[in-house]
Amino acid sequence: LPTDIFGSRRNSAGIDLSDPLVREPLMERLEKLEGKQWRAEPTFMSSGEGEVAPINKPHDLTAQVGTRRDSLDFEVEEAIARAEAIQPGWNALGGEKRALLLEAAADLFEEHTDEFLSLCQREAGKTLTDAVLELREAVDFLRYYASEARRQFTGPIPLPGPTGEENRLSLAGRGVFACISPWNFPLAIFIGPPAAALAAGNTVVAKPAEQTPLIAALAVELCHEAGIPEEAFQLLPGAGDVGEMITSDPRIAGVAFTGSTQTAQAINRSLAGRDGPIATFIAETGGQNAMIVDSTALPEQVTRDVVASAFQSAGQRCSALRVLHIQDDVYDEMLAMIRGAFEALTIGDPEDLSTDVGPVIDPDAKAALERHVARRKTGGSQVWRRKLHRGSSKGCYVAPTIIELDSILDLKRENFGPVLHVVRYRASEIDRVIEEINATGYGLTLGLHSRNDDMRAFIEARAKVGNFYVNRNQIGAVVESQPFGGEGLSGTGPKAGGPHYVARFATERVVCIDT
Ligand code: GLU
Repeated sequence: LPTDIFGSRRNSAGIDLSDPLVREPLMERLEKLEGKQWRAEPTFMSSGEGEVAPINKPHDLTAQVGTRRDSLDFEVEEAIARAEAIQPGWNALGGEKRALLLEAAADLFEEHTDEFLSLCQREAGKTLTDAVLELREAVDFLRYYASEARRQFTGPIPLPGPTGEENRLSLAGRGVFACISPWNFPLAIFIGPPAAALAAGNTVVAKPAEQTPLIAALAVELCHEAGIPEEAFQLLPGAGDVGEMITSDPRIAGVAFTGSTQTAQAINRSLAGRDGPIATFIAETGGQNAMIVDSTALPEQVTRDVVASAFQSAGQRCSALRVLHIQDDVYDEMLAMIRGAFEALTIGDPEDLSTDVGPVIDPDAKAALERHVARRKTGGSQVWRRKLHRGSSKGCYVAPTIIELDSILDLKRENFGPVLHVVRYRASEIDRVIEEINATGYGLTLGLHSRNDDMRAFIEARAKVGNFYVNRNQIGAVVESQPFGGEGLSGTGPKAGGPHYVARFATERVVCIDT
């Protein structure tokens, strides 16, 4: 295929951590940033006293990374007013100028690689590999949505009409968008939805997860340095009450939320109950993601992909594998290999290069996962757990775990961490397996390992998921190549990094002129 069918834009190259000439100097630079203290605060602050919360490392709760100054009610009010006032001007700039500003921000993000990687590690407990992937994705979102602004927002599309009549369709920003983001991708998913909203001509008030505001603050600062007006993209740090105040405000034209299904449902109810215009709601939520492995699958490949899908990022991806279904005929052999690879995972400090599995985000996340494992143990499930390393009690570590289950429907909720469930099925039960996966109501990712094309076609025809991965792992969707997002309990559908995403933040206007 000629490569130019995809245009001239390319995803960023990332950093080759296997090259010691790249890795060693990077590690030294990151060490120099070790003691740096960061601060997140509202873009425009009143003189009022906002609450200040410490932000500590998830892997060492005694080590502070910075502080979060929460937004006051008055500041939220004012932020939305400023964003509303500047929005028509931002929209009138047009797609090309907005694209240039987003691209300038992407360049600055790359220039500040060290700070971003350091923050991903220290504030969010990410391994260096994950931190590098996260920065790449953030930069790719900025550049891709910039290219979409150029493609869809630089002029009206002429439409057919009776002789003498001119019809044209154009896309415009809706107004002020609220972007509420999660801690598990504190940079990529913090910046993706605002970048799309800004590309489409909206202005943005962004509330980052309360656990990871520092990296968000740096991202916003660099967007301003790139030339995006401060009023057009404002940071409003805080806990859930700040989010609630933003989304219940009738001046908010749309909400882009990534996080739990329960919070998405609460936002949806609040939007339905408020006065004012009917808001657009873009939600990307959780999953109960399954993988099916039949007897034709390649065991080594399955082992590699299962371990990556379930345990990379300590299982804290909404795409992560939660329930592995293995065909009876190969179950024992396959599980033994997976357990072998599981036993070889290095659990430790995410700032050590050798670490495969770092901490979970906070004590609440740890407690919820431990409760789940304890319940399964008391219920009589077979459970395998890794031992934690020395020093792990300083941080929020959950020992990677494998649990045998009879059915995916035994799980009532998503378990967001390094816990893999395994189900045995007979070949004759494949209809029931896919029915049960669909019956969870979630629809984010599904993996299949099979060399049988009929099996692939069978599952593909029945799967109700946003992203179906065959003979590979099921995490790490690539911007533009694998647009990402789910259906049902997993979200409202728009796919991040896909060709329709930016338009979902816009309103469509038609002008019809007769002679
Ligand atoms: N896009 C990420 C992936 O493909 C997951 C996003 C999330 O966890 O919210 O792994």
